[in-house]
Amino acid sequence: MGLAIAWRLATDGFGVTVIERGETGQEASWAAAGMLVPDCEFEETTFFSSACRQSLRMYPAFVEALEAESGSRIDFRRFGTLYPAFDNRDQKNLEARLCRQRQEGVAVHSLTLKEVRRLEPNLTSKVQMALYYPENNQVENRDVVKALRVAAERVGAEIRPHTEALGVLYDTECVRGVETATGTVGADIVINATGSWSRYLSGLPGVCSPPVRPVRGQMLALSVVGDPPFRHTIYSSKAYLVPRTSGRLLVGATVEEAGFKNHVTATGALRLLRDAIEVAPALRDFPIESMWAGLRPATPDGWPVIGPTPLKGLYLATGHYRNGILMAPLTAAWMAEMLTGGEVPPAARPFLLERFHASAPPA
Ligand SMILES: Cc1cc2nc3c(=O)[nH]c(=O)nc-3n(C[C@H](O)[C@H](O)[C@H](O)COP(=O)(O)OP(=O)(O)OC[C@H]3O[C@@H](n4cnc5c(N)ncnc54)[C@H](O)[C@@H]3O)c2cc1C
Repeated sequence: MGLAIAWRLATDGFGVTVIERGETGQEASWAAAGMLVPDCEFEETTFFSSACRQSLRMYPAFVEALEAESGSRIDFRRFGTLYPAFDNRDQKNLEARLCRQRQEGVAVHSLTLKEVRRLEPNLTSKVQMALYYPENNQVENRDVVKALRVAAERVGAEIRPHTEALGVLYDTECVRGVETATGTVGADIVINATGSWSRYLSGLPGVCSPPVRPVRGQMLALSVVGDPPFRHTIYSSKAYLVPRTSGRLLVGATVEEAGFKNHVTATGALRLLRDAIEVAPALRDFPIESMWAGLRPATPDGWPVIGPTPLKGLYLATGHYRNGILMAPLTAAWMAEMLTGGEVPPAARPFLLERFHASAPPA
């Protein structure tokens, strides 16, 4: 999120410094699956699902501009997503979803068993039907974060890796900068985009602190030898499968309240493997390439926190939970609009921090 905003703001002429504790793009944004699947993720239409759809529409132009600026290729696969039903309960849920989404004008098709098997013969024989979302795609998020760093630097942003932000500096009027482990960085605008850690910058008044907590996700990748077993992203009530062009097949993901413990567990790995084999028995003999875990930044209502705080000059771009890769283009565009025009775009208002501190006095 920080890199996407930095690229956008530096492009718009702001002087930008990215302060990063480790290496850029190595936490949740590296761990993610890169699915851009708002129509699968959300049961109903809300301000957040609408924002995710808006960001999805921005993705093709975002990737094209990012490839051009960074000079690197981004694996952005646009074969759509299948959401199969494995039993009667799944099928009932998907049929109700189809009905709702058709009324809302979502691009969704119902596929018969025969059609699903023709598209993805490696899915379990338990499949009864599936929904097909032609516009819900996926991107290699690791390509995106690498390209964002190059692009941001090319338009003049300064990236300071291995520099921990310790606290935000401010006086009675506004923000003055960031205190880091290696000195002070002066600034009259500070954007806190520290993901799962964003409530821990010290010294901030409580009303500026986002109620963000980490939610662990474990994932693994299988190596594909020979023909790719899947062409589409497979989203399901069990595991999801995300085929990369490189030949890796991602299997995700657990959703766990485990504090800041960011490691793969025996139970997590077992569950992912069991679910993957249930969804696609053909995966049984595939080599495991790697396993990892990441911390999704989550808020109590599951929506991100984007925009100004009561402290002048201090902004937030955090709490994107399961959809931060998807929401990167729109969040960056909203931040640019807020900082250049001074106004919060109407569509961004539901994501202000004030929804959590409505009754608190100003800082
Ligand atoms: C397993 C898993 C699967 C996911 N799948 C998807 C998906 O398919 N689609 C999707 O859209 N989203 C997905 N997500 C969610 C997505 O990854 C996140 O919402 C998004 O990456 C959050 O981005 P961020 O920049 O806020 O956080 P992060 O990527 O965690 O970045 C925060 C950065 O802040 C730095 N930092 C923290 N504290 C400090 C400090 N004090 N000083 C300096 N730097 C600091 C960290 O080092 C880190 O680099 C997934 C997440 C996980 C874990």
